[in-house]
Amino acid sequence: MKLISQSEEIEDTIAIDGRELFDKGLCRIMAGPCAVESREQILFVAEKLADMGIKIFRAGAFKPRTNPYAFQGSQGQGLKWLEEVRHTYGMKIITETSDITNFDEVASVADIVQIGAKAMYDRSVLNAAGKLNKPVLMKRHFGATVDELFKMADYITLAGNRQIMFCERGIRTFETSSRFTLDLCGAAVIKQKTKAPLILDPSHSMGYSFGVPDVAKACAAFGCEGILIEVHHNPKEALCDREQALDLEEFAELYKTIKDIGKAVGKAVE
Ligand code: PEP
Ligand code: MN
Repeated sequence: MKLISQSEEIEDTIAIDGRELFDKGLCRIMAGPCAVESREQILFVAEKLADMGIKIFRAGAFKPRTNPYAFQGSQGQGLKWLEEVRHTYGMKIITETSDITNFDEVASVADIVQIGAKAMYDRSVLNAAGKLNKPVLMKRHFGATVDELFKMADYITLAGNRQIMFCERGIRTFETSSRFTLDLCGAAVIKQKTKAPLILDPSHSMGYSFGVPDVAKACAAFGCEGILIEVHHNPKEALCDREQALDLEEFAELYKTIKDIGKAVGKAVE
């Protein structure tokens, strides 16, 4: 039996408010900090990214932290600040739901609902995502095979939502010098088996800012429909995923380079 997520019934373009923001001719850059920390932080970074031409802003208000003592996100207040970013800068918002208790609240604000790697196996989240009439970005769990990713995605498609994007964000291997290992071979399989947009995440896979630009360039050359990149105005002070965040200058330089790389593989990087 062919899964819906691998069939003709899945969407290959994603439109938000009637405008196609993801299609095969584009590589859409989604940038922003890991977490919404404060109103000042989020508006400052968003303004700088909007000035560079970034159309989709990323930041999590509900963070699914492994460490229960770590910053858990600014939660409902953070979502309000993200709405302010949308109104002030006209950017679309991708933000994550960490579990079913915040799903509706997140979905009411997000233009794209991010299902984090750890939530890939959460059927209550997937069923809720299936009832949404909004795009969802589904991250592959770091311990999941591509086949498991597709099977879990069909909890979403079976509940009725065909607007799914798949994100490879690194899997766990024997290698511990980087945070995870970006599985580009698995990404090639995702690309071959489904026409859903493929998103790559160099930030969470690499885990260290020194390597993120090189990995992001490889992602642009790979030919994907989008790249998620964590950017913070002052990475040393970031409350979440500090070591992997690019600062604004590093990001600006990378953005220029990946636009050129995109041209070589027939993708407009925007
Ligand atoms: C994130 O995008 O900040 C995040 C928590 O990612 P992941 O679910 O891939 O760990
Ligand atoms: Mn993060």
